[in-house]
Amino acid sequence: MSTRFTGKVALVTGSSNGIGRATAVLLAQEGAKVTITGRNAERLEETKQEILKSGISEDNVLAIATDLATEKGQDELINSTIQKFGRLDILVNNAGAAFNDAEGKTGVDQDVSVFDKIMQINMRSIVTLTQKAKKYLIEAKGEIINVSSIGAGPQAQPSFMYYGMSKAALDQFTRSSAIDLIQHGVRVNSVSPGAVITGFGEAMGMPAGMHEKYGHFMESHKECIPCGSMGKPIEIANIIAFLADRKLSSYIIGQSIVADGGSTLVMGMQAHDMMDILKSQ
Ligand code: NDP
Repeated sequence: MSTRFTGKVALVTGSSNGIGRATAVLLAQEGAKVTITGRNAERLEETKQEILKSGISEDNVLAIATDLATEKGQDELINSTIQKFGRLDILVNNAGAAFNDAEGKTGVDQDVSVFDKIMQINMRSIVTLTQKAKKYLIEAKGEIINVSSIGAGPQAQPSFMYYGMSKAALDQFTRSSAIDLIQHGVRVNSVSPGAVITGFGEAMGMPAGMHEKYGHFMESHKECIPCGSMGKPIEIANIIAFLADRKLSSYIIGQSIVADGGSTLVMGMQAHDMMDILKSQ
């Protein structure tokens, strides 16, 4: 097992499920002490058990069940991490969500309360948590990795417009904070996943089985996912670990790595074979 993060302390938000869980487990397995967090204490415990199962000491894991959308929750995360581990080297701003309009409206008719809720967790919480972590990350000459989405664009996202807007704002935050913080030796980068199998759909209120239905459709349409398979959380976690590892990615500043099985490279009008279209007419 690699020990490349030995001596480092990582805080991974949204690590009670999905991409955050895979990231926290990977960083811990590679030597980091990790603070794991989410609101759901039961699922957070599952993440902790997965880490301990790898033979990692309980002393290397701090689990905090809290609401990241509140500044109180954010203070608790930073203060408890510093109290227990004494430093902070890696901040992974991964927690995020999308919400449906209560009346099922999409596009510009989506209620603005949905906009507020999405921006609160996907953008505002990242700004304030970064502010609170800054001092410790500068001391450690540390790394920030934000988890964005291909929903940020440049393609349109009419069904989940506010979600896409929150991630587009996050990309600009990544670029701008990267230039602001590199003068202090702190690197900021991000990863932009495509469709990944996680608890995201369930958190949005999708009924059981719907996520699988969606995944099956995407995988069987080459214009949706050219590589033919949904992403796995570990495939995104590996990129986060790469961006957190200064030996490997030192010269990457303020960039986002797209990991989407080819989805964003396909234009609708180029997704079908021209010869097949002509033959059928
Ligand atoms: P999951 O729903 O599996 O995980 C989301 C995590 O965020 C959970 O641990 C959840 O914890 C946490 N979270 C959400 N809201 C809050 C809150 N208010 N306070 C504290 N924690 C919160 O989804 P993913 O793993 O897919 O999502 C991780 C990131 O990846 C998100 O930023 C998402 O936008 C992004 N992404 C995901 C894609 C996908 O296809 N899955 C595609 C592109 C980007 P809890 O429920 O315990 O509070």
